[in-house]
Amino acid sequence: LDEFELIRRFFDRQLVDESVVAGIGDDGAVFRARPSHELVTVMDTMVAGVHFPEFLDAGDIGYRAVAVNLSDIAAMAASPRWMTLALTLQHADGAWLEAFAEGLFTAAGEHDVALVGGDTTRGAETVVTVQITGEVKTGTATLRSGAKAGDAIYVSGTMGDAAAGLSVLQSGAPANEDIDYLVRRFRRPTARVGLAQAIATHATAAIDISDGLFADAEKLLHASGVSGSIEVSEVPISAPLRRTMANDDALGFALAGGDDYELCFTTSVNGDQFDEIAAGFDTTLTRIGTVAEGAGLSCTKDGVRINYTNAGYRHFGD
Ligand code: ADP
Ligand code: MG
Repeated sequence: LDEFELIRRFFDRQLVDESVVAGIGDDGAVFRARPSHELVTVMDTMVAGVHFPEFLDAGDIGYRAVAVNLSDIAAMAASPRWMTLALTLQHADGAWLEAFAEGLFTAAGEHDVALVGGDTTRGAETVVTVQITGEVKTGTATLRSGAKAGDAIYVSGTMGDAAAGLSVLQSGAPANEDIDYLVRRFRRPTARVGLAQAIATHATAAIDISDGLFADAEKLLHASGVSGSIEVSEVPISAPLRRTMANDDALGFALAGGDDYELCFTTSVNGDQFDEIAAGFDTTLTRIGTVAEGAGLSCTKDGVRINYTNAGYRHFGD
């Protein structure tokens, strides 16, 4: 199975996308953006053993590699359109590639993203890099830098599921329905592409949560030159996570666990319309805090300031 046969067999699928003038097979991909739109481009690299455990199914590796990029596109309120794939493999394993491609094209197909090119190399580790280019109406991308004092801080979905699931999986605990749910949140994250576009006109700033709620909210606030406070009792935690872990452990994952690929955004509007918007995307939008003047992110629990830092749990109440 040489490089060209590999590309032909697993990645060169017939495109029915009229925006693609030239795709896989030429030296470069040529594609056409809509008028009155800007391009948004994102890239994420995943290294086996660093960004995902070696035992993860090839289909999940392919799916995640696309989903984490879709999530960055979502955070910008853009529409994903075209992607490239750089693949470094130790050897060409047909069964692995078949499953990988299935996962990759499943995630891409959910948002009509066309694979327009890439690069394939042999190397000492499995490394998967996906780059996605999307479009956004001129001037409408949501940046990290727009939050203002007085805005509310919101998140989509529930926090901590993916990291908790992965941790339980790696501990070798026996599987059950709750653990399966949590692990699935790691294996097949849902990028909030449509939701992000639906809230974009109301959002002053947005970021997707890949490194953990606290860390990513802090980045947004820093980029906006403001401070913020999160009320930890408002942070949404799923029923499966509550059933799987003690309260403080669940909250620890909710604040610090990465890999959920939910959205965190700030807004100056009263949030009454958010429930309806969220329901349309089969998820929730929850107000968890407030933006203020100054710098830094602090936490309260039931209104009382608690000492939490990015490095992990210090202390909760007492
Ligand atoms: P070049 O030598 O001109 O860089 P390559 O021989 O590396 O081109 O690739 C041939 C074609 O296959 C190019 O269109 C490239 O974009 C595409 N390609 C290579 N690897 C991949 C991949 N993993 N997924 C999708 N397309 C790929
Ligand atoms: Mg070339």
